[in-house]
Amino acid sequence: MSQQTQLDRVVDAWTDFLERWPDVHALAAADRGDVVAFWTNHSLGYNNRAKYLHEAATQVERDHDGEFPESPAALQELMGVGPYTANAVASFAFNDGDAVVDTNVKRVLYRAFDVPDDDDAFETAASELMPDGESRVWNNAIMELGGVACEKTPKCDEAGCPWRTWCHAYETGDFTAPDVPTQPDFEGSRRQFRGRVVNVLGEHDELALDELGPRIRVDYAPDGEYGREWLRSLLEDLESDGLVATTGSSGETTARLRR
Ligand code: SF4
Repeated sequence: MSQQTQLDRVVDAWTDFLERWPDVHALAAADRGDVVAFWTNHSLGYNNRAKYLHEAATQVERDHDGEFPESPAALQELMGVGPYTANAVASFAFNDGDAVVDTNVKRVLYRAFDVPDDDDAFETAASELMPDGESRVWNNAIMELGGVACEKTPKCDEAGCPWRTWCHAYETGDFTAPDVPTQPDFEGSRRQFRGRVVNVLGEHDELALDELGPRIRVDYAPDGEYGREWLRSLLEDLESDGLVATTGSSGETTARLRR
């Protein structure tokens, strides 16, 4: 249902469908015309999917004694189920799939592991990275990372991406990707800003936050998106690296190079 339609627009149809045909047995016993009519009445588009779904339920009943097949190869035998869907179902429903490679996953692999933009290379890297027997949690994790942090414009720091400590893109500041051919509109890598903080502090004994901020970026505004909070988090990184020392708190914080 959600293949070409946004998830929140299919919730009602999904609920109604399960009320009417709660399991594969019930669906297989239904009249195909009723399933197609349901599809049309709920504006789900592409009626063939209703026919395929009904046929697939019939196959499960007839060829698998009503038990859903669990491997990608067996799932692919079902009507309307291609390799991607078979693997996704095997992976998420049965924890028995291979690594899923979609646009989000490619973007993450390309940036984090510097995998070249080549389908075979993505497949190989994804399979090697996935821990054996962990397809459900691995595929969920990497797809989620691509959806909430490693988006086209990445939110590495904002989303607290756990891979920042070794991500190739984060280190180099190059956030292009197969679906992001030019550098996204991004604040710039933290590495660049950390370097700037060290350079500026090298020219002064010590600086208060609001003196340091405008020297780091022109759009610094104490309470803005790139303000004290943002600057303090940069300073915390540098402090934990042993490069910078800060004193005071809130707006009174001052920073200096550790000598
Ligand atoms: S650190 Fe940034 S670029 Fe790297 S994987 Fe995380 S979100 Fe993506």
